[in-house]
Amino acid sequence: MHIPFVDLKAQYETLKDEIVEAIRGILDSAQFIGGEVVTSFERDFAAYCQVGYARGVASGTDALHLALRALGIRHGDEVITTAHTFIATAAAIVATGARPVFVDIDPDTYTIDPSMIERALTGRTRAIVPVHIFGQPADMGPIKEIARRHALYVVEDAAQAHGAEYQGVRTGALGDVACFSFYPAKNLGAYGDGGAVTTNSAAIAERIELLRDHGRTTHYCHSEVGFNSRLDALQAAVLQIKLRRLDQWNANRRRAAEWYAMELAESGIKTPFVRKGSTHIYHLYVIATNERDAMRNELDEAGVTTGIHYPLPLHLQPAFAHLGYRRGDLPCCEAMAARSLSLPMFPELARDQVRRIAAIARAAAERDGHKELQRKSTSSHAALRADGGKEWR
Ligand SMILES: *Cc1c(COP(=O)(O)O)cnc(C)c1O
Repeated sequence: MHIPFVDLKAQYETLKDEIVEAIRGILDSAQFIGGEVVTSFERDFAAYCQVGYARGVASGTDALHLALRALGIRHGDEVITTAHTFIATAAAIVATGARPVFVDIDPDTYTIDPSMIERALTGRTRAIVPVHIFGQPADMGPIKEIARRHALYVVEDAAQAHGAEYQGVRTGALGDVACFSFYPAKNLGAYGDGGAVTTNSAAIAERIELLRDHGRTTHYCHSEVGFNSRLDALQAAVLQIKLRRLDQWNANRRRAAEWYAMELAESGIKTPFVRKGSTHIYHLYVIATNERDAMRNELDEAGVTTGIHYPLPLHLQPAFAHLGYRRGDLPCCEAMAARSLSLPMFPELARDQVRRIAAIARAAAERDGHKELQRKSTSSHAALRADGGKEWR
């Protein structure tokens, strides 16, 4: 009866023999850090992302941190990003010594709103970090145009979007450099922590190689002080096997998303909006409803585990209090923090499970009779801005 939020065991069952054999191979080789398995996974992942280079690192957080460092981002710089993301996006900026500057999101796709970026620029702005949140690419066309005009770097946070496309181009190939996480629950997940940086720049790839391995140029020579942030061989072996299935898993997620959309149509619940020309790979299936907390309780009571991504936007996190943001500064982020609900989503999710989840959600929405409010919430972007997002709160 219970429906989990993600089901990593179901996936493992389908891969067990292959994974166990690969892990045994690593144990036999006793090559745990670096080596042929890591470089061959890097080659496969670069090819998958349609870029020249992929470099494995220890986590998605490190991928972001090292990518920003590789670009020379440092103390005194400002980096534009979104507050509607996991804390790692901004933590990586802080780790370089730079200051994160938060820009509001588009109320339909939940990715950074390009029309709000230029007013956030200062003489210190060096880069933009768009996040392909929930599995849908940010609106990279206008973002890259702004970056070009103002000579800024674009660093993709692709931690939730392995394999998603924007106008026919895969994430990982959409900016100057891109950062992936292989945290177990991500669309491409290791059996532990892991991450990767992808780029078409040989110079950036080389900087990542140095930074991830203590600035090491030869065994005993270090050209600079770097970090210990390597992808280990066990994780690379697992990832290499899983990468071959990623497109099929993403297709299964899209199919589950279609079922949800069908079941939730006309319910007043706002389902994910996919921008024209983009593909969404549904790392998370996030709906929006004014009765989020009641709906979440009812699902919980029925044995359905849900999540909230994210209940407290970054600009209001205690960790970033020193940045001086206030409630009301980013109305769309704040509205989503109050209204968003992440429903179970994983490639093995079955038709009847979606039917059951949707029936409970629909009943909760109807009982709370919030259709009128929901109708308002889909009002135009401009209207939402004009009233400072009040309708949403
Ligand atoms: C998971 C995630 C990260 C961090 O990745 P880790 O591998 O957990 O360090 C960064 N950004 C986003 C948007 C994420 O979802």
